Amino acid sequence: MKNISTRDKKHLWHPLTQHKLHPDTVAITRAKGALLYDDEGKEYIDGIASWYTCVYGHCHPYIAEAAYRQMTQLDHVVFSGFTHEPAVRLSEALMEILPDNQQKLFFSDNGSTASDVAIKMALQYHFNQGRKRDVLIAFEEGFHGDTFGAMSVSGLSVYNGPFSDFFLNVKRIPVPDGTNSGEVIEQFEEILRTENVAGFIYEPLVQGAAAMKMHDAEGLNTLIRLCKEYDVIAIADEVMTGFGKTGKNFASEYMEQLPDIISMSKALTAGMLPMALTSCTQKVYDAFYSDDISKGLFHGHTYSANPVACSVALAGIELLRSDEMQENIKRITASHRRFDEVIKKHPKVARTRQLGVIYALEIKVDTERYGGLRDKLFQFFMEEGVYLRPLGNTVYILAPYVATDEQLQKIYNTIERALNSVVD
Ligand SMILES: *Cc1c(COP(=O)(O)O)cnc(C)c1O
Repeated sequence: MKNISTRDKKHLWHPLTQHKLHPDTVAITRAKGALLYDDEGKEYIDGIASWYTCVYGHCHPYIAEAAYRQMTQLDHVVFSGFTHEPAVRLSEALMEILPDNQQKLFFSDNGSTASDVAIKMALQYHFNQGRKRDVLIAFEEGFHGDTFGAMSVSGLSVYNGPFSDFFLNVKRIPVPDGTNSGEVIEQFEEILRTENVAGFIYEPLVQGAAAMKMHDAEGLNTLIRLCKEYDVIAIADEVMTGFGKTGKNFASEYMEQLPDIISMSKALTAGMLPMALTSCTQKVYDAFYSDDISKGLFHGHTYSANPVACSVALAGIELLRSDEMQENIKRITASHRRFDEVIKKHPKVARTRQLGVIYALEIKVDTERYGGLRDKLFQFFMEEGVYLRPLGNTVYILAPYVATDEQLQKIYNTIERALNSVVD
């Protein structure tokens, strides 16, 4: 039997991959804690928690046990008309950690569908009250997923360019970065005044796909406050930022003004199973609550509130709230800060940024060379046993909270060596 990577080539089509340019894959056979192992036994530190999902560590026994226990009790049942303990318990647990104004939870399967549900809630919130509001506001470099609604509100790029003729009506604004906030706020209010705006969707404080670009809490707070003034639904996409990564359970807690809607996925299920949630305020929910059946939210996925995924999410929240994980988050935050003190002075480093356990470093490059750099860095990291996925000239770290000090140190050393040997 040929090896896994060779057999993979025959039938598989990978996400976000141009197969002609990147024909090779690495076969991963198992994972534990912060480590991934390939089919030759080589280990890699998972420096990005497998796209920010496995934050409590891979194959965490507490999560795995919760899944197994639920699998032998109730695997799946329709969630229209039926309910079950795992969903109810998950809702109760989430209410304890979500911003206070969030009251209702709607299930879907992934971050993109959570965005789509949020967008539909915002549009229908106005529709149900007899108002025609058909414009959405989003940040220029935002990312909210790959389904049509989510793609529409994402920044234009190689991902959504071919479909741009089919998008929802979206106005894009830059993020308030502290230097431009006055202009951004003015532009925002101008749109609110002149267009029929239904909602504003944003990744609070950190834009993941834009290479962990960070913005200003005060500026964002003002934008959300303006939304309230114009009865525009503020949607915080916390798919990446949720569940402790920014140093708080949700990035929205950094702002005084709270969003009307929050979307969650990724770390929600600790990397064990796919699931997503869109939460909203009582005000949003009440706009759908009616004797008129057509005012309901007629959106539903077959696997809504899958009991096993709910049990896993519940176990994940218990871990998040444990002293151990809270200590880990603080430890990694402090560790990144110490690394930053040193590395930001490196001549090849243009700038750095950090919020909680999210750390990013921009490499100084002349743009012509930029194309090949990303791949060279990636190769270097993999050879050294560190899994990081640079975005353009940005290297970012978002390791599982259980990454040890030694593992963090290895990530830092590897980045530093890459700066010295790969970047020219
Ligand atoms: C990953 C991501 C999504 C999309 O989630 P999928 O599960 O990949 O569909 C949406 N929003 C943000 C902020 C994300 O990071």
